[in-house]
Amino acid sequence: MSELTARVALVTGGTRGIGLATARALAQAGATVVVTGRDADRAEAVAKEFGGHGLGLDVADFDAVGATVKQVTAAHGGLDVLVANAGIMESGLLGMLRADDVRRTLDVNVAGAVAAVQAAGRAMARKRRSADGTERRGGSIVLLASVVGTYGAAGQSVYAASKAAVAALARSAARELGGRGIRVNAVAPGVIRTDLTASLPADVLDRQAAAAALGRLGDPDEVADVIRFLAGDAARYVTGQVLGVDGGLVP
Ligand code: NAD
Repeated sequence: MSELTARVALVTGGTRGIGLATARALAQAGATVVVTGRDADRAEAVAKEFGGHGLGLDVADFDAVGATVKQVTAAHGGLDVLVANAGIMESGLLGMLRADDVRRTLDVNVAGAVAAVQAAGRAMARKRRSADGTERRGGSIVLLASVVGTYGAAGQSVYAASKAAVAALARSAARELGGRGIRVNAVAPGVIRTDLTASLPADVLDRQAAAAALGRLGDPDEVADVIRFLAGDAARYVTGQVLGVDGGLVP
């Protein structure tokens, strides 16, 4: 038996990058995995690769997030793991920011995560019978913070603020939900090679690689492995933590 056998996992924004690597890692560990993406067809196609399921969801739509969690819970008999991964990074110096850009980042990165935690918390609090016949209550929620939420980054004020909010959400939700057996943690990646960071100038990426103790950028599966650990029973006494996955970055 693998560590996540008979568990149901939901990964938002799971069609590429860290989300896709996480979905694969959770599926490899035995979980039934549902990924969401803004495009339902793409999400379904991507999920086929690891034997999972795909759904369309824009996490900026607060009510739709709740409805999707309910749908997944009903279809698979419960929810054991949530990875609220969907996020956007829009760069811009403070003087250039427009209200719409600020709201969009906060809607996706913060409100989207709040909606997912709220709905998953309700679903995980219920007693249910897993596919292997065991009775379960509780679950594990993992959020995607970022090193910039702690250190800040010029040209990324709103993104950094949104990720600091995500870290605070993890710590706060852990306190509210711990009594129901629900753990809530966040990972705070450094610079990971994905589409999100592909647009950063080469000299910025080189500086970030040099600033890491390991002297290189990270890969999505290096974040996914830590998320899989937090999702499973090996981390059963870990909650309210924001775990750096940054190669020892000192900006
Ligand atoms: P990515 O751009 O490759 O993937 C992001 C995913 O989120 C995509 O599948 C995208 O479609 C989805 N998404 C974006 N907006 C959405 C919305 N409104 N509704 C539904 N899905 C939406 O990025 P990534 O690098 O894999 O990042 C994943 C998470 O990790 C993000 O929350 C990001 O902020 C965080 N993160 C990334 C890095 C990094 O260096 N790559 C560092 C720290 C934190």
